[in-house]
Amino acid sequence: MDDPREEGSLCQACGKRYKVDVWIPKRFWRKITPRRDNLEAGLLCGPCALERIEQLFGFAAFRLVERR
Ligand SMILES: [Zn+2]
Repeated sequence: MDDPREEGSLCQACGKRYKVDVWIPKRFWRKITPRRDNLEAGLLCGPCALERIEQLFGFAAFRLVERR
């Protein structure tokens, strides 16, 4: 059961809480967001975001950079 007092965001695909926010360019995000009613919105944990990107692009490579 999810405890809303815990830190982090709640993934809208798997329902798990996560703390590492992965920024995804809007042109990709609009295709993978769980919020079909608002393509700019939504929350996905890293594994769910990458799984959807894999379904979209197949084999691909991306660079992870630290956001300050
Ligand atoms: Zn998830």
